[in-house]
Amino acid sequence: MTRFKLVAAGVTDVGRVRDGNEDGYLDQADRLGLVAVADGMGGHRAGEVASATALEALRAAVASGDPLRDAIEGANEAVLEKSESDHELQGMGTTLTAGMLGTDGSLTVGHVGDSRGYLMRDGELRQITEDHSLVEEMVRGGELTPEQAEVHPQRSIITRALGIDPLVDVDLYPIELRAGDRILLCSDGLTTMVRPEEIANILGREPDARRAAQLLVDAANAAGGEDNITAVIIEAVEEPEDDAVAAPVVDDGDGTDAGAPGPKPRRRRGRTLLRVALWALPILLVLAIAFGFVGWYARNTYYVGIDRGRVTVFQGIKGGLLIWDPTVERHTDLDPDDLTQPQQEDVQAGKKFSSRSGADSYVTRLRQGVEERATAATTTVPPPTTALPPAPPPS
Ligand code: MG
Repeated sequence: MTRFKLVAAGVTDVGRVRDGNEDGYLDQADRLGLVAVADGMGGHRAGEVASATALEALRAAVASGDPLRDAIEGANEAVLEKSESDHELQGMGTTLTAGMLGTDGSLTVGHVGDSRGYLMRDGELRQITEDHSLVEEMVRGGELTPEQAEVHPQRSIITRALGIDPLVDVDLYPIELRAGDRILLCSDGLTTMVRPEEIANILGREPDARRAAQLLVDAANAAGGEDNITAVIIEAVEEPEDDAVAAPVVDDGDGTDAGAPGPKPRRRRGRTLLRVALWALPILLVLAIAFGFVGWYARNTYYVGIDRGRVTVFQGIKGGLLIWDPTVERHTDLDPDDLTQPQQEDVQAGKKFSSRSGADSYVTRLRQGVEERATAATTTVPPPTTALPPAPPPS
């Protein structure tokens, strides 16, 4: 199996008409195998907040081991929560189109909205994603031609976005990577300004990914730059087998990533272990409490039994309980043979007490009994024998 790593380069630009840039992109190709584009909406500040919030939530979720769909759903919740927490941000939303390298070396593109993913392979440009926009749905329904859609006044209305509804429908597109593949993620500020043929032309002729992304943005600006423009180019670079198992060397130039965690497979394993540990934690806690209780019970119980032929006070449970064996607390000089028959049976069975003083009192009573019986034996005078009168004769 050929393994790939991702190399990405992105450019975002305000364009020539808008005041602010509500687009954003994420390049975590080397650290997480993750690249994404987001196009925010909802007014100047809100749009910027929406795209930035979604991208950060996506990054954090993937970094913690979430699969792409879960991570995008999490980004949706993050944007929605933020918009509900601040009335200036109410109604904000964002598109999100993300590419993530899988453990098997394939790339999955996750998509909501009208940003786009394209695959450039063998000189051919193919659109990966379907726009979630009103005009695209009308084209798919046969109500508009693609040419009519391009100039339709409602072409910027999108039918799916993050941050609008608690539930979001995420499209996933798996791509079997091949060496030399280029994937373009871009906002509609590029695709509404630059035709696919021109995009293919630029991607085909400029080998440097960063320069190619800049050329795409330049082309959109040259065509009017009516919207914010973002273009991120991802390249699938074949990884030698040896490198695939070696510890990853991460260098994004800022020197902050020395010793960064490994790529996806390793993260996932860590996450699984953590999940198992979290799942097992309550059970371990209950067991620890139960064990502690048994230990406490074993150490706070006493019995009176027999050791070395003498009545003895023990701490613990006769015969032991789990790891707790009984220990001798006090030997006495009482001989079990001097006890009454029921007392002997009690002591042989190990007579239980919940406190040491209870056991001691019992021993004291046993001793008193023995002494009383001894005293009685030495002072008792047999009654005088008297002759019985003769039986009366039968009448
Ligand atoms: Mg846009």
